[in-house]
Amino acid sequence: MRLPGGNGYDVIVVGVGAMGSAACHHLARRGKRVLGLERFDIPHAMGSSHGVNRIIRLAYYEDPSYVPLLRRAYELWRELQDGFGEQLLHITGSIDAGPADSLVFVGSRASCELHELEHEVLTSDELTERFPGYRLPDGHMAVFQPEGGFVMSERAIVAHVTAALEEGAEIHGRERVLGWEETTGGVRVETDRAVYEAGQLVVAAGAWMGSLVPDLTSLAVPERQVLGWFQPSRPAEFAPGRFPVFNLTVEEGRYYGFPVHSVPGFKIGRYHHLDEVVDPDDWDREPNAADEAILRAAVSRYFPGAEGPALTLRSCLFTNTPDEHFIVDRLRGDSPVVVASPCSGHGFKFSAVIGELVAELVVDGKTSQGIGLFGLGRFDGVMRPGW
Ligand SMILES: Cc1cc2nc3c(=O)[nH]c(=O)nc-3n(C[C@H](O)[C@H](O)[C@H](O)COP(=O)(O)OP(=O)(O)OC[C@H]3O[C@@H](n4cnc5c(N)ncnc54)[C@H](O)[C@@H]3O)c2cc1C
Repeated sequence: MRLPGGNGYDVIVVGVGAMGSAACHHLARRGKRVLGLERFDIPHAMGSSHGVNRIIRLAYYEDPSYVPLLRRAYELWRELQDGFGEQLLHITGSIDAGPADSLVFVGSRASCELHELEHEVLTSDELTERFPGYRLPDGHMAVFQPEGGFVMSERAIVAHVTAALEEGAEIHGRERVLGWEETTGGVRVETDRAVYEAGQLVVAAGAWMGSLVPDLTSLAVPERQVLGWFQPSRPAEFAPGRFPVFNLTVEEGRYYGFPVHSVPGFKIGRYHHLDEVVDPDDWDREPNAADEAILRAAVSRYFPGAEGPALTLRSCLFTNTPDEHFIVDRLRGDSPVVVASPCSGHGFKFSAVIGELVAELVVDGKTSQGIGLFGLGRFDGVMRPGW
């Protein structure tokens, strides 16, 4: 049991984005004295969580062991939106599609079978008949899972922060953490405004993980992404009731997309857009014609009813681990520092449950659900020379 630090905080959370805001809420609801520190506004458009919404789905081709966490995430999103009084979780159904032997299709179907999730397998023709916005090549197959949908991302951060403040957390926007060190009683954190002490530290700094925890520099690598919203020529095909969110593997790459919602246009992105590793403090945020062309090519070929003018283009950052699974762990043995870097392009949907898991790690020293897949130990001797 660690003692509160000199300023009377039990825990300092660095980064009040998707994961940090959820951690602040779950720590504060457990009665911890929490200080959340965010370098930008809350929310903001400089990191990984802006752009209106993020896909959530129970069918999980990345690894079926995520499914129990997803079930808990759904519960927590519903609980959060009930308390907040605003819909955060929108159910549209989800499509996971690709060639019959692709990971997206095979992995999604396997996760549904293993966890007995309701689902249907559709050919590309059956998919178009059911959801006319989709035009996939012959031979492509799709898993439809009715509980897929999306979470309103910036509003979810607002909801987590609102709950945390009501539970007594202290949260500072526009205060940048410059560094931290372990002390005999916990941690000391220096910002551009003050120095704070606490019993424990949670680092949830997204694309900036490596600058605050240098050991993670090669394990949490920022990558530039671009999202596009295109004006449908056949809007009815892309309405929320007619168009499930999707993950799709085609010969040009792996794409994801959404029905029209909140802002005009059909939204689409390509995973690992142009494979551009960047410095999160110095990168080209302004989307360009090449960015639009990449996305437009997929729209015109696979979603022809949405091939109108681009309405909005936004850049954003992934933070990738070498195996694309998350990092949620304590730094070395009995360190007072917990690190949370769940991204690799698929972390947002979990943020509610990651907040809970981080709070359990901090308060109980262990988690109620297995998170071995997210442990730092998996990189021992491979990616962490010198550890
Ligand atoms: C284009 C795009 C599409 C995506 N689509 C999906 C999807 O459909 N579904 C899904 O589940 N996931 C998706 N993801 C992934 C998901 O958005 C991320 O996993 C999630 O946003 C990461 O949250 P985070 O808290 O780690 O980062 P962030 O929300 O960026 O939070 C990190 C915070 O730390 C702050 N910070 C950093 N350094 C400091 C410092 N020194 N001092 C103080 N504060 C600091 C930052 O300002 C930031 O607010 C997508 C990501 C992108 C970029």
